[in-house]
Amino acid sequence: MSLKGNLKGKRALVTGGSKGIGLAVVESLVEAGASVAISARTTKDVERLTKRLAKRTKAKVVGVVADLSDPDHCTSVVEKAASAMGGLDILVNNAGVGIFKSIEAMTWEEWRQQIDLNLGAVWACTKAAIPHLKASSDAWVINIGSLASRNAFAKGTGYNASKFGLLGMTEAMMLDLRDHEIRVSLVMPGSVNTDFGSSPREKGRGWKLEAEDCALAVMQLLAYPKGAHVSRIEMRPAVVAKR
Ligand code: NAP
Repeated sequence: MSLKGNLKGKRALVTGGSKGIGLAVVESLVEAGASVAISARTTKDVERLTKRLAKRTKAKVVGVVADLSDPDHCTSVVEKAASAMGGLDILVNNAGVGIFKSIEAMTWEEWRQQIDLNLGAVWACTKAAIPHLKASSDAWVINIGSLASRNAFAKGTGYNASKFGLLGMTEAMMLDLRDHEIRVSLVMPGSVNTDFGSSPREKGRGWKLEAEDCALAVMQLLAYPKGAHVSRIEMRPAVVAKR
């Protein structure tokens, strides 16, 4: 099974593609020859990244700046991406936020922020992408869930609600879209060494998964031949951190 060079001509949109797991997915897609649209809120990050990647590939690299917690922005990001690349074959719903506080400490706004982005944006981006994916000969929706999609923890009311919801929503989406030959999968990593949440990224490989490990899971999914569908990948650090 080759994970490299098999995506030439494919067109992918990665939400939250400027940092962390999304960035690693973007780098892998570019390396495999796909055209990529990257969406995030921070203009300078998106501009710097698209400029850097455009030097490495003959395929298209497109940046779209937007806050995806607004469903109208989700629609416009998908339309801009598809129009700039001439269509869409792969949607990676990765953008997410984690606010870890007890229910007593968390505000309604913080709760909503997680639900609107981690769940709402996945629904809205996928809905907007469906007409483009239907026109593709090999269409994928890959959602980035979490082990928090099935393991609840203290201070996780908002995050667990969003990621448990994402697990159920992804499975329902898969059933809605399989007759259109759109494969829908969920990647569920445990702790990943990124700037996500409150702890900053550590230098070098520690006990956590690296963003590149998650990108490898995405590339593995995409490498399956038509007719084969791995619908869920759970992944975790090989060794539990000593506390
Ligand atoms: P990250 O390093 O914080 O990157 C998040 C990305 O999403 C950035 O590109 C960020 O760019 C973008 N983003 C954040 N809010 C946004 C918004 N409202 N609209 C549009 N883009 C937005 O996070 P990560 O660790 O790579 O996490 C990516 C995904 O993996 C998330 O869904 C997360 O739940 C999941 N995950 C993470 C871990 C972990 O331990 N890190 C574990 C399991 C699952 P801007 O800030 O510029 O918008």
